Amino acid sequence: MSDELTATCHCGAVQLTLPAEAAGVIACHCSDCQKMHGNFNAFLAAPRDAVTVAGQDNLVWYQSSEAARRAFCATCGARVLKEITGAGRWLVSAGLVDGPTGRRIVRNLWEESKPDWYDLPPVSS
Ligand SMILES: [Zn+2]
Ligand SMILES: [Zn+2]
Repeated sequence: MSDELTATCHCGAVQLTLPAEAAGVIACHCSDCQKMHGNFNAFLAAPRDAVTVAGQDNLVWYQSSEAARRAFCATCGARVLKEITGAGRWLVSAGLVDGPTGRRIVRNLWEESKPDWYDLPPVSS
């Protein structure tokens, strides 16, 4: 297994580490992600306890649906996290990972909600 991944928001106020075992990259095309990310949301998933966060005070949580809440950086607005209620998992925006991830998109979610202006990204196994 390779090393853990580090991730930072645009301004650097929020810094995360993810375990090497984090799942993904997963692309979610649901309408919530479209509204919040401006397009689909690419993320890595890991148990909440396996993710460390520095600068947690900079995170603002938003209840984006009955089933989930999301966190963004109060300073730069970067979309950092999604938490499925009760699932114990955090979905960390893939764009925040620093340096190469050594990964590809492995799965698309909510394909039926995709807008008409892009094709689904190819999936690698
Ligand atoms: Zn920030
Ligand atoms: Zn989504």
